[in-house]
Amino acid sequence: MKIIDLLTQEKMSLSFEVFPPKTETSFESVKTATEEIAKLRPAFMSVTYGAGGGTSKYTLDIAKNIKELYDVPTLAHLTCVSSSKEMVQQKITEIQAAGIQNVMALRGDIPAELEGADRSHWDYQYAIDLIRELKDSNADFCIGGACYPEVHPESVNQKEDIKRLKEKVDAGCDFLTTQMFFDNNLFYNFLYKIREAGITVPVIPGIMPITNANQIERAMKLSGSFMPQRFKSLADKFGGDPAAMKQAGIAYATDQIIDLYANNICNVHVYSMNKPDVAEKIQSNLSDILSK
Ligand code: FAD
Repeated sequence: MKIIDLLTQEKMSLSFEVFPPKTETSFESVKTATEEIAKLRPAFMSVTYGAGGGTSKYTLDIAKNIKELYDVPTLAHLTCVSSSKEMVQQKITEIQAAGIQNVMALRGDIPAELEGADRSHWDYQYAIDLIRELKDSNADFCIGGACYPEVHPESVNQKEDIKRLKEKVDAGCDFLTTQMFFDNNLFYNFLYKIREAGITVPVIPGIMPITNANQIERAMKLSGSFMPQRFKSLADKFGGDPAAMKQAGIAYATDQIIDLYANNICNVHVYSMNKPDVAEKIQSNLSDILSK
C-alpha cells in the first residue's frame, strides 16, 4: 500500500520508525523487536538506512520481513550521499523486487571525514538528485522526503531551507516527514510557512519519546532541537531515575501527539527506536482516540 493513500484518509493514526541492526550478530534481536512493533498494526513502519554504508545492509531485509509477516506497509529509507550511481541503482532495483512501494529519499549526513571536501564530482549532491532518479525509474514509488521545522543545520536561514524544500517537493515528493521537535508550536509555525510557500503535500510530524537521560543530549546534537522549559524540568526531576524518566518521556510524547490530533494533524510518526514497549505504551495511551 502506498503511504500517500493512508495520509489522505482523515483517520487518526500512528506510524513507527525502526532501525536495522548494525552487525549480523544483532540481526535476530532487532528483527524480533521490529516484529513486536509490527504486531501493534501501525499505519506504516519506516526502516532507516545508514549513510556511508553503516547500517544500510539490512534495511531491506527488515522492511521486507515486516511487510510479508504482518502486512504492515513499509517505508524503506535510502540515502545517496557519497554513493555511486551504480550503488543507488542496485538498491532501487532491490527495493522494487522486494515489492516495497514507499521510499524515503534522503541525502544523508556528510560523513565527518568528508566534511569540507570537494563534492563537485560526487554523483549525488542533494536529496533532490535521488528523488529525480526514483521518478525516472520504471517503478511507481510513493516518495517521502525529510523536512526540518527548526531549519536544517546546514541552511543559512529558514527562507532558503523552505525554498530548497519546495524544489524537492516539486521534483516528486508525495509527502514529507519532519525531524523530531519538542515544542508543537515550532511545527505549526513551520506548516504555516511552507503552505504559504506553496508546498501542499501532507506533512507527517515526527515525535521522539525521550525515555532516558542520555537520549536528551544525543537528540539535541542530532537535530539541534529546542527543549522547552517544561521538558527540561521533567528531565531535571526524573533524569536520574530510569523508570520515572521513561514514564515521564512517554507521557510528554503522548501529550504532543494528542495536541497534534486535536489540531487536525491525522498521522503522527513516532521515532520508536526499536523499543516495542515504548511503542505499545504510546499506542495504548491513545487507544480510545485511535479507535475513532
Ligand atoms: P536535502 O534535502 O538534500 O537537504 C540538505 C541540505 O541542503 C539542507 O540544508 C537544504 O536546504 C540544502 N539544499 C538542498 N538542495 C540544495 C541545493 N540545490 N543547493 C543548495 N542547498 C541545497 N539519515 C540517514 O543517514 N538515514 C536515514 O534513514 C535517515 N532518515 C531520516 C528521516 C527523517 C524524517 C529525517 C528528518 C532525517 C533523516 N536522516 C537520515 C537524516 C538526514 O539524512 C540528514 O538530516 C541530512 O543532513 C539531510 O538529508 P535531506 O534528505 O534532508 O537533504
